[in-house]
Amino acid sequence: MAIDLTKADRTLVNEIIELGGEDILKCFQCGTCVADCPAATAEMPLRIKKLIHMIHLGLRDELLEEDSVWMCVTCTACEERCPRGVKPFEVCLAIRRWQAKEDPTYIPPALGEIFKTGHTQNVANVPELRKSLGLEEVPPTVAKFPELLKKFQEMLKCSKIVQEYGFMFGVG
Ligand code: SF4
Ligand code: SF4
Repeated sequence: MAIDLTKADRTLVNEIIELGGEDILKCFQCGTCVADCPAATAEMPLRIKKLIHMIHLGLRDELLEEDSVWMCVTCTACEERCPRGVKPFEVCLAIRRWQAKEDPTYIPPALGEIFKTGHTQNVANVPELRKSLGLEEVPPTVAKFPELLKKFQEMLKCSKIVQEYGFMFGVG
């Protein structure tokens, strides 16, 4: 991605701090948080270090387009490893809140995945990676059993949120 620093917006970092990423200025870009992040190998790789750098640089438009932040699986490994106490997971949550505030029409990609696959991340989409780790190519969840996925979808359709905001889930 080519970075145009003339577009840098210095208010962005303060907005992220207010939304829960309060230690973001302590980051010195060591990359430890990415080394152990399971979402770094996701179909849409999450590099929280890079997102933090984008915030420091004030790249508002680019941050709004970063769907990868929805790949975080909330394991908090990054929080345990970060030598600076930045709490990168909290930054992930702050970015998600910021995206929703910045563009109220924004639809997180994870919502469509829930209905389609039963997961916020499509865990069945990385068969080779799973195999190389000695795992079944498709995990034994609704992703593997179409009849259970169908039941799960029927259940979701009964929920109030899907009935009212079905378009966000790709339903209806
Ligand atoms: S581990 Fe902490 S200091 Fe290092 S890049 Fe990640 S957030 Fe920044
Ligand atoms: S909490 Fe999210 S960003 Fe942090 S290591 Fe886990 S998946 Fe990666």
